Amino acid sequence: MTTPLLVIASRNVKKVGEIAGLLAPHGVTVQSVSEFDGVPEVIEDGETFGENAALKATQTAEFLGQWTLGEDSGLCVDALDGAPGIFSARFSGESATDESNNRLLIERLEGVPDQRRGAHYVCHVAISDPQGEVRLSVEATCRGRIVDEARGENGFGYDPHFLIREFHCTFGELSPVVKQHLSHRARAFARLMPGLVGLLRS
Ligand code: IMP
Repeated sequence: MTTPLLVIASRNVKKVGEIAGLLAPHGVTVQSVSEFDGVPEVIEDGETFGENAALKATQTAEFLGQWTLGEDSGLCVDALDGAPGIFSARFSGESATDESNNRLLIERLEGVPDQRRGAHYVCHVAISDPQGEVRLSVEATCRGRIVDEARGENGFGYDPHFLIREFHCTFGELSPVVKQHLSHRARAFARLMPGLVGLLRS
């Protein structure tokens, strides 16, 4: 049975790649919002990952008249009282890059000992119907530790500094296949899939 198109309301190519990879085994057809002309930028002025995921999903769905997935994610560092949190993409300012964000993160953690370097990634996913109503919403986390030295080329964002203790490797070093099993995004999608497949087939 074919399912309707699901639009992914993100212009982050690496993130969209991970999301498409998590949806592919379930036969869901996806397209990034970047493939459509004229879709306005969503102002992410929510106060939580859940609010921002819902804003992305509902505004894009209403504009395009399509089922839409909004995903908001970020890194919360214990020693920084949960920062950068919902501001992860713009931690070092409006023209932030992964490199400038990582530099600032390591600067802020100067002098913090290893045992206080705990952190977690959060991923919140909201699904909106074509009328702009949120029909599903899930959140998941993944625990790790921040290391000073950037390690590995895989993943994106803070991955070269995010160490997974069990593997003694950062997400930058681990194979993308392993990240697709362990990550905050993988965990959120595992929770999402039964409901999403049901909704798209109904
Ligand atoms: P968003 O696109 O507004 O949700 O911002 C997400 C930001 O959180 C990204 O730009 C990264 O800085 C960070 N982030 C979220 N998920 C990941 C991940 O899987 N690896 C590394 N950084 C991530």
